[in-house]
Amino acid sequence: MKRVWMLPKTDYLPFAEIDDRRDVALVTSTPAWDAVKELLRLNVVWRYDVTEADESAWLAANQTLRGDVVYAVGGGLAVDAAKYLAAKQGLPLICLPTVLSVDAFLTWASGVRENGCVTYIETKPPERLIIDFAVLAAAPLTVRAAGICDVLSIATGLWDWRFAHERGKNPAHMPYIPYVDTIAQGILQGSLDCAEAAGQGDKEGLKQLLDCLALEVQLCNQIGHSRPEEGSEHYFAYSVENVMGKGLPHGDLVGPGIVLMAALQGQAIAPLKKALLECAIPLTNIPPDVITATLKDLAAYSTRHNLPYGIAHEITDAHLTQLPSLA
Ligand SMILES: [Zn+2]
Repeated sequence: MKRVWMLPKTDYLPFAEIDDRRDVALVTSTPAWDAVKELLRLNVVWRYDVTEADESAWLAANQTLRGDVVYAVGGGLAVDAAKYLAAKQGLPLICLPTVLSVDAFLTWASGVRENGCVTYIETKPPERLIIDFAVLAAAPLTVRAAGICDVLSIATGLWDWRFAHERGKNPAHMPYIPYVDTIAQGILQGSLDCAEAAGQGDKEGLKQLLDCLALEVQLCNQIGHSRPEEGSEHYFAYSVENVMGKGLPHGDLVGPGIVLMAALQGQAIAPLKKALLECAIPLTNIPPDVITATLKDLAAYSTRHNLPYGIAHEITDAHLTQLPSLA
C-alpha cells in the first residue's frame, strides 16, 4: 500500500446556490437530471447519460468529452463514470448526488462489470461533494437511503474477515485488525440508529447516514482494502446481477445478500432486516429460485473470481434448507 486516499471536501448547499461559470462536462442519468435540472444554472457544453458500468462505453465517451470541469449528477453509476472520465482527462470533479444510494461518491475507485463480476479501477474521489438535503429527501423512496446497504454490509463483511482470519485465509495485505473491527461495529451501529429517519428523508437521518458512509469509506482507505465493508453479501449481489440484469439498483441486490449471508453466518437477522425495511430496500425483487441457484453456485463463483475469503466460499447444499424469509 503506497497511498491513502481522502474523502471529497463536502459542502451542504442547496443546488440552486451553486455558482460556477466554467464549461461543464455533465455526466448524469436522464431521470436524475430531469429531477434537478430546474435548480441548476450550469454552462453544460457536453453531456453523457450513463446507462452501464462498462469501461468500453466510458472510453468511447472519453473520446468526445469537452469542458473545464466534470459534474456528476445522479447516483452511483453517474459518479463512477464521472470519476473515470475526470481522472482520464485530468479535470476537477464535482459530485451532486441526487440519492444516497451507494458509497461511490466518496470513494476513489470506479466499479465496472467484467466477465460476470465487478472489479474496481483506481480513478479518484471527487474534489468536491455538494449535498442538498431537500434533493435527497425528494428522491424515490426505494433508493433514497439505499446507501445504508454499504454500511449494513459491515455486519456480514466483518464476520467474513474474522472467519477468514480463523481459517488462515487472509492474504498478507489484508490482515485482521481487531481495533478496526471495533470501529466498524460503531459505524454499523450508527447506521442502525439512523435507518428509520434516513428512510423517511429526515435531514438529520440523511446526515447521519452520510457520516456513516464517509467513516466507512475512510476506514477502508486507511487500511487499503474493503474487508470491513465488503464480503459475501456483495459477492451474492455481483453474481445474481448476471441473472437479474443490470437494471436493478445496488440495494435491491446487496440488501437481500446481507440478510441471506447473516443467516448463513448464524447472526441475528432481525436488526438488519428492520433497518433495511425502514429504508424501504426491496428484499423480494429476486425470485426464490434465482436466489437458490445463485447460492448453489456462490462458492464456485467466489473462488473463480478470486474474491476475499468468506462464508460464500463454504456454502453447501445443506445450508440451502435453512434460508430465512425475505418477505
Ligand atoms: Zn456496495
